[in-house]
Amino acid sequence: MEPTASTFRDIVEISPFPVYVCTGDDMIITVANNATLKAWDRDSSVIGKPFFEALPELEDQPFLGYLQSVYRTGKPFYSDNSRVDLLVGGMLQTFYYKFTYQPMYDADGKVYGVVAFNTDVTELERARQAVEESEMTLYNLVRQAPVGICIIRANDLMIEVVNDSYLELVGRKRREIENHTIWDAIPEAAESYAPIMNRVIDTGIAYTAKEAELVLIRNGKPEMLFIDFVYEPVTHFDGSINAIMVIGIDVTDQVVARRSIEDIEERGRLAIEAAEIGTFDLNILTQITVTSDRFNAIFGFDKPVPRRKLIESFHPEDRIIRDQAHEEAGKTGYLFYEARIIHPDESVHWIRTQAKTYYDTDNTPVRMLGTILDITEFKRLQQQKDDFISVASHELKTPMTSLKASIQILDKLIKTNGDTGKISTFIEKANISLSKMQHLIESLLNVSKITAGQLALNKSHFKAGDMITESCDHVRMAGDHELSITGDTDIELYADRSKIEQVIVNLVNNAVKYAPLSRRIIIHVARRTKTVKIAVQDFGEGIAYDKIPHLFERYYRVDATGVQYSGLGLGLYISAEIVERHGGKIGVNSEAGKGSIFWFTLPIGD
Ligand code: ADP
Repeated sequence: MEPTASTFRDIVEISPFPVYVCTGDDMIITVANNATLKAWDRDSSVIGKPFFEALPELEDQPFLGYLQSVYRTGKPFYSDNSRVDLLVGGMLQTFYYKFTYQPMYDADGKVYGVVAFNTDVTELERARQAVEESEMTLYNLVRQAPVGICIIRANDLMIEVVNDSYLELVGRKRREIENHTIWDAIPEAAESYAPIMNRVIDTGIAYTAKEAELVLIRNGKPEMLFIDFVYEPVTHFDGSINAIMVIGIDVTDQVVARRSIEDIEERGRLAIEAAEIGTFDLNILTQITVTSDRFNAIFGFDKPVPRRKLIESFHPEDRIIRDQAHEEAGKTGYLFYEARIIHPDESVHWIRTQAKTYYDTDNTPVRMLGTILDITEFKRLQQQKDDFISVASHELKTPMTSLKASIQILDKLIKTNGDTGKISTFIEKANISLSKMQHLIESLLNVSKITAGQLALNKSHFKAGDMITESCDHVRMAGDHELSITGDTDIELYADRSKIEQVIVNLVNNAVKYAPLSRRIIIHVARRTKTVKIAVQDFGEGIAYDKIPHLFERYYRVDATGVQYSGLGLGLYISAEIVERHGGKIGVNSEAGKGSIFWFTLPIGD
């Protein structure tokens, strides 16, 4: 069966696409299917009316013109997506249509009308515009963003979009970046980051780096930077990755600033630890003190204690020092004092406190931060030094007084032409005093040389017996003691003679000094395989067993008060140093009440 005109009419009628026909010079709407009426929001009364009358809102729009030109020329018209503003629901609304206007011919081949086929593309067009708009917004966002953004095509790593912040971040000109592949543009980062970017493209998993340390050639100069950045995959509808968005921020300043603060803190902490400084933080308003472990330990506690307890720890005589220092700190903002504290175990310790006051905006003191140091040992050394100076001056003063006396007597004797025998006695006395002084001064000089590590030896060959006899002249001259030199006195030594003499003098003088009631002193020389041992024996009080280990320490004196005997506590210390410098040993065998044998050895050359 041939399709009839009515068949076509039926097809048009049921078409979901708007189809209508206009005929004659006035473009009378002769056919308009339901889809058309719906699109126009008109009823069937428009059929039979001229186009412009049915759709007056289209007066300023080009559609009637297009229809008429098709009618006149017979040339069909194909549109793009075109905007149409139609009165729908009583309101002028915008739609988009794609349409074709086709001429209709009569039997004579003359155009009698135009058929319009329309497709509503409003939704599509809106979606496209939305995408375009959002792309535009994104683009503007990217451009103006304060963070560096760079969009890189996934397939060939070509840089598609880059903003000014990114250019600034990488220190490049736009032309050095745009239309280059990323690793051509920034080759110095390729080694570390190309594999990472490839992985993001392969896996679709973003990569985030915090404070990545990176050297970039910025404006021609290599610079070390810290950068926070993200490689964010940009996916297509189908899930494939078509680009990588790089977002980066230069955090160098923050990192450097933070690190230097951390450095300073770390250095401060180390200094505090190394110096064994205790720290405290006093809240002046609440009177609560926060103390460090070291602080508590300095006060003799193994845990923090209330401030009241700390204040009670001060030595009763020194509380005033602390109170006055705090009063002063109230005026100056600085606290400083040295005072004694008493530990729970009753031991006494010296501390040095230093602190600074902090004020709030109305100048009220609110906080005090400070440090304390245990200076007990320092104070002990200081005390020892002071004692030493007074003892040393006293030691020098004694022979000096007797020297002065001897010289005064000599002066008188000479002026009065006195007894020559007496003159020589006093000259001897003066000499003894002088050598005592000389020996003391030499000891003092030696101590400073030993402490400075500068005790040099000046070795020569000499006979042990000769050296010993000479060193003991003064004792023999004084005539109060019976001195015997026994053993292998002929043995030849190779040593610093004057220094070994000093050792002998020290030992003999001690024997004289600490055994005043016993007259006998024996000096014995004994040859062994590779050493010679020289011993000085007295028959005095001897030394208590527990004191022996300390005898050779600097400033050590058994009777530290010096009530019975005076001395510097240096003789044995210097002797030990001299002997040890020679490669020998020094020691003592002593028993309280029976006397002592002080001995030393010297190596003998092979
Ligand atoms: P000092 O200048 O005090 O004599 P030394 O270093 O020579 O210093 O001696 C240290 C201490 O050893 C002395 O103070 C003394 O108590 C003790 N001492 C040294 N020699 C003897 C000795 N022969 N008999 C008893 N005690 C001695």
